[in-house]
Amino acid sequence: METPICINWDADKLFSELVKHILAGNIAMDLGRVRAAYEFAAERHEGQKRKDGSAYVTHCIATADIIVEQGLEEDSVVAALLHDVLEDTEATYDDIKKLFGSSVADIVDGVTKLTRVQYTSHEEEQAENLRKMLLAMAKDIRVILIKIADRLHNMRTMDYQTEEKQLIKSAETMEIYAPIAHRLGMQKIKWELEDRSLYYLDRMGYNEIMDTLADKMDVLSSFMTNIEEQIQTRMTSENISSTVYRRIKHIYSIYRKMYSQQLNISGIFDLCAFRVIVENISDCYNALGLIHDMYKPVPGRFKDYISTPKPNGYQSVHTTVIGTEGIPFEVQIRTWDMHQTAEYGVAAHWKYKSGGDGLRYGDEEKFAWVRRLLEAQQETEAQDFVKELKIDMFSDEVFVFTPSGDVINLPAGATPIDFAYAIHSGVGNKMVGAKVNGKISTYDHVLKNGDIIEIRTSKSAAGPSRDWLQLAKSSSTRTKIKQWFKKEKRDENIIRGKDMFEDELKKNGLSLSEITSEAMLPIVLKKLAVSSLDDLFAAIGYGGQTSVRSVNKIKDEIARLVKPEKKTILDKISEQAERRSGKPEKAVQGILVEGLDNCLVKFSKCCTPVPGDEVIGFITRGNGVSIHRTDCMNYVKQRIADADGGRWLSVSWAKVTNDYYSTTLRILAKERSGFIMDVATLLNAQNAKVRSLSARDIGNNQSTANVVLEVKNREELLAIIRKLEAIRGVIEVRRAGVSER
Ligand code: MN
Repeated sequence: METPICINWDADKLFSELVKHILAGNIAMDLGRVRAAYEFAAERHEGQKRKDGSAYVTHCIATADIIVEQGLEEDSVVAALLHDVLEDTEATYDDIKKLFGSSVADIVDGVTKLTRVQYTSHEEEQAENLRKMLLAMAKDIRVILIKIADRLHNMRTMDYQTEEKQLIKSAETMEIYAPIAHRLGMQKIKWELEDRSLYYLDRMGYNEIMDTLADKMDVLSSFMTNIEEQIQTRMTSENISSTVYRRIKHIYSIYRKMYSQQLNISGIFDLCAFRVIVENISDCYNALGLIHDMYKPVPGRFKDYISTPKPNGYQSVHTTVIGTEGIPFEVQIRTWDMHQTAEYGVAAHWKYKSGGDGLRYGDEEKFAWVRRLLEAQQETEAQDFVKELKIDMFSDEVFVFTPSGDVINLPAGATPIDFAYAIHSGVGNKMVGAKVNGKISTYDHVLKNGDIIEIRTSKSAAGPSRDWLQLAKSSSTRTKIKQWFKKEKRDENIIRGKDMFEDELKKNGLSLSEITSEAMLPIVLKKLAVSSLDDLFAAIGYGGQTSVRSVNKIKDEIARLVKPEKKTILDKISEQAERRSGKPEKAVQGILVEGLDNCLVKFSKCCTPVPGDEVIGFITRGNGVSIHRTDCMNYVKQRIADADGGRWLSVSWAKVTNDYYSTTLRILAKERSGFIMDVATLLNAQNAKVRSLSARDIGNNQSTANVVLEVKNREELLAIIRKLEAIRGVIEVRRAGVSER
């Protein structure tokens, strides 16, 4: 690729070019200080060479040159010259501070920190986290601007690197730095970064586009002039105050279109694009009407991002039309406000806050906002500026690394405890220590952007302590710790309950092995209305059930079945008679009620059981039997309170059940846009019969969704729950009627 700064010039000559550019840029600078920075860098980098053989300091000058081109002020230029001395030489922060002041030293320090961030993963989510982290780490916007200038020059001189390095750096540029440049509104630099990366990532594709554009350039150029005049004339004659811009799309955007639409370049006709900028929203639609009147619109290419803005706030109306020569082209229509947001992103937002004067920006002023930003920065308190910029960015998040380089996104104020539980509950529960950036850390240590966290675990770890609930910042961490306590206590309860139960059995001349035989266990469990012995032991252990009562309940049953010889002849005869009559049990709505035919059955609304669930019936007053799950809170509570004990009775599912049962799920999730949409999309994809779906924010950055759906059985329901749990941001999915899982 063409390389703007000639690498064969010696450094002094290159520096005098830089000075020329500073003078031409019309921004007052102390050139003596700039020269001192150059000389300091040259001295410190003495003997170091770039891959092309030139002195290392030429890279520092070239980076500063890009900064000058953007219209940045003196400290930025000085810091750009010094940007690699902390990383690559013996120079220290204090050296820089003493010679050039703390502002410059802080910027260089910030750039060095960004340089040390390693890029390892190609996953899109990781790339997004890394982009956010770089922005959040740069306490001063100038740090990012210098880092981008540094990367741009490295991309310009990438030919001298090994092929492997070219690919790695180009991928990183494409995924991390070009999007950041885009976010900061640096459209021109973004385009150059993308085009240069593409050149290394797919050279054949790049060359194909370049050759075709060169062939077509004459035609395209006169075509665009023509269209621009036609649009401008028509707008003026209809009294719509507007400015029309034209451009040829940059190579990577053409490439992306070829790739996404699987075309070769001859299939991409709309290489040119026009922008019509108007005064207000109604003029956007008026202008659109005029353009559709002048040229034939291409069906399906009209997009209204004014009524539905893109997630980053972008607004415009897009349409593709066919010109008089039969060549299609895209037109984007927007107001000046929308244009500012589109071009300057975060900075435009900041500018509004600081009382923007509605200046109109054109392409020639692409970088003027940076200048204004920095002028404003000198006037206001630096702290306020940083604070304000941080609010716009990610002040409520912190981004840290695993030792293997994955970025983990945590709420601001998070501690190693949050980190451990964010990796996995198992890691948190087994944590015995943490290291932050290689140093042993306390659990209350507040994590900073870019920290590398290492969690030490041990199989014999005692588990979380109660204090951790105070030290954890994220509510999902606290939920996980609470779950551990609940479960852990359950284990203790089971042990205690088992001892009590065994003692009571002994008093009655029974043994545990007698009632846990393969034949007996199902009968015992059914009689006691629990789904496992552990459930029974846990209930006895925490006092929700007494061992005396439990043993009483099963005593007779055991006597009857274990010692059948004690049955009377009459018993046996009546049993035989029953068996012979072969009367089928009658299923009512798929439920068999023990000892009762034809009774009215309804499914409780509190826990909405479905076939496959362990169920129990409750004899209501005058309303038949209502069916609950055995883990339904209402049932469990009543059992604990030992209230209405006599009205509970055993029920079971019939072999043949109804087609569909209505049941309710509650989803707890991190608050984010698109969440309810994702739930709806997933349920739809599962062919779930959804009867209602609603969501609301519950504060603490969380929302809940309520889903009423119809399923055939528990298996189908569990499959849907598993799918829902996999949706991004979902903390837990539980069935109605049950407290925490
Ligand atoms: Mn550098």
